[in-house]
Amino acid sequence: MKNNNRDGNIKFICDWNKCPPVISDDELIKLNTWRDILYNLNLIGATPEGIGFGNISLRTKPSTRFIITGSSTGNLIKLNAEHYVKVTDYSISNNKVNCSGPVKASSESLTHAVIYEFHPEINGIIHIHSLDFWNKLLNKVPTTSEKVEYGTPEMAIEVTRLFKKTDAFEKKIIVMGGHKEGLITFGKDLDEAGKYLLAYINTII
Ligand SMILES: [Zn+2]
Repeated sequence: MKNNNRDGNIKFICDWNKCPPVISDDELIKLNTWRDILYNLNLIGATPEGIGFGNISLRTKPSTRFIITGSSTGNLIKLNAEHYVKVTDYSISNNKVNCSGPVKASSESLTHAVIYEFHPEINGIIHIHSLDFWNKLLNKVPTTSEKVEYGTPEMAIEVTRLFKKTDAFEKKIIVMGGHKEGLITFGKDLDEAGKYLLAYINTII
């Protein structure tokens, strides 16, 4: 039986194996380099009410797994190994992730998962929030349907559709039409994902 919430969407399930940090020093440096930049630009952070937004991830071994900033870490100035979690398995249709680490993975992890699944050359993903850049880029680069909300199985399906039907892979960016303020960039590593993001937000389209 489906586990539906009041909106009729399948409720997100996080199957969490709480354990000590799962991230290597090298992975921590790569992730924190960009997390610091994005936090300082207020593209990852927290609202005045304390609600965190944005996340970044890095593909790891085996290739279906990745490390992502934990939920409720957006308000922290500096992250350490305690604030990252490894997504070890997932199910789009059940809106579920399995994860291991000191913190939980958010429902937004599923969209990261589907992007890694789509292309083996994508190894780093950045998801930021910015109303200005969202307005600027909406429908000017590959954009998901405004009817589809983030953190739902429908969004994962919609992202896959964009990859198949548009030049999203070449452009390295997706605007989340139904997730106001939400943008995603990605690349062969986090440096490429970050450089594309900075290039897009610094370019007048
Ligand atoms: Zn978001």
